[in-house]
Amino acid sequence: MAETVVAPPLRVIPIIPELKPDAMKDVRSFVANEKIQTAIGFPGQLVDDWHDRAIGKMGELLEKYRSLKVYMDACVHCGACSDKCHYFIGTQDPKNMPVARQDLMRSVYRRYFTVAGKLFPKLVGARDLTRDVLDEWYTYFNQCSECRRCSVFCPYGIDTAEVTMAAREILDSVGYGQKYTNEIIGKVHSIGNNLGLPAPALIDTLQGLEEDVKEDTGVDVRFPIDVQGAEVLLITPSADFFAEPHIDSLIGYAKVFHAAGISWTLSSKASEAGNFGLFIGNYDQLRKIALRIREVALELGVKRIIVGECGHAWRVAYSFWNTLTGIGAGADDPFALQLQRQLDGRYRQPTHICEFTWDLIERGALRFDKSANDPYVVTFHDSCNVARGSRMGDLMGGQFEIPRNIIRAVANHFVEMADHTTREKTFCCGGGGGLLTDDLIDLRVKGALPRMEALQEVAQSHGVNFMATICAICKAQFSKVLPYYNFDRRVVGGVHQLVSNAILLGPTQ
Ligand code: SF4
Ligand code: SF4
Repeated sequence: MAETVVAPPLRVIPIIPELKPDAMKDVRSFVANEKIQTAIGFPGQLVDDWHDRAIGKMGELLEKYRSLKVYMDACVHCGACSDKCHYFIGTQDPKNMPVARQDLMRSVYRRYFTVAGKLFPKLVGARDLTRDVLDEWYTYFNQCSECRRCSVFCPYGIDTAEVTMAAREILDSVGYGQKYTNEIIGKVHSIGNNLGLPAPALIDTLQGLEEDVKEDTGVDVRFPIDVQGAEVLLITPSADFFAEPHIDSLIGYAKVFHAAGISWTLSSKASEAGNFGLFIGNYDQLRKIALRIREVALELGVKRIIVGECGHAWRVAYSFWNTLTGIGAGADDPFALQLQRQLDGRYRQPTHICEFTWDLIERGALRFDKSANDPYVVTFHDSCNVARGSRMGDLMGGQFEIPRNIIRAVANHFVEMADHTTREKTFCCGGGGGLLTDDLIDLRVKGALPRMEALQEVAQSHGVNFMATICAICKAQFSKVLPYYNFDRRVVGGVHQLVSNAILLGPTQ
């Protein structure tokens, strides 16, 4: 733990914080260097004509994304969103109020794109895009996890996440990118995954897991990779291959495939479900990263594509893979059409691992010993991108119910956290949207406050000691920040970790 970071005290009920102006003005994530920037096609450093280029890019985005223009014009400053952001709640910095974050861009929009702002800037709160303003953008648009909680409460549905994505896109276009996100995108292109794990290390890890599971269960559970002709291609976050507690969910997926008798494979080339192109609002990167999965699916000839426990990856897969890649109907280039013919139309393409497992449970294809999870009183943390950017199953709200149904099927003790902190109103873990970096640990710890308060409430009232989630970022973020709030880091884990504990694999177990 960083010595200088002090977690705010936990409170019993949500309290609108007192304002601490500029409290977070010096908390800035590292700026990407020239090598990182140029590797993914952005200018290496702040360009000389950054002002004109930034305004030009903003004009381009306002044309391209009509929603952005609506968001710039529609806000009536009602304040309904102001106390809904975990970063404002945790940091008390008024610039972390969603409306204030939008206004960082709106004030510039007014100056350059509205008649009133061009003629009477002071009257309408319009500002020139100065270097100070650009720096302020960098700071506060990298203090938004694009979680979209604020938009749930906005009467006009204004989505601050889209404003943040546009701002980051503009910043990248003038050579002012964020190190963490852009370095990771570079690694995906050069190595295949966010963590920079080369194929031999991956294969080694998977062999080790086979041995571990055999030792634990006596059963030969396989962790196949690059298998031509497998039925299922599993695309999962690279953290699942070695990070704790992520790896326990990977073991869970493998056990489910084994128990169901379905052939499956991972890919050394597409060894990452995450797509940080979303976080930086860059369509070209979003598509390029997604296309790796199509290439591998075509090469291996798989019939189904299943996505592991990763929040934003599932949002990208569910909402955008169809038009980006042809996984699902949408794109109509020759490779997309070839893939659509190849994939089995009887299944959802793509399928979330929770949909897959729940379907098997409903059909009675899996057996469990629920008592294996009796040491746990479990609660469920809805991840933002799953909750507010995707669906699961055929019913409305399936993304909320299916993971909970699985937990209830494999564990005897399940407790919900407070209503205003779950389902579509869930609070971000504090590390999403490209902020899971140690240079932002102060922000991450403070941004976790609302979730930690809700967790403490059920820990005290019901003895909750396990918070399940289906997002690699949530797992990594909570593992890091739980100790700041006096919880054990092992309190967080995956839904398929619980599945793994309880699943019965055969007569030998
Ligand atoms: S999208 Fe999330 S992090 Fe960003 S301003 Fe809204 S509530 Fe805060
Ligand atoms: S809730 Fe919507 S309209 Fe109200 S201040 Fe926030 S963004 Fe503006």
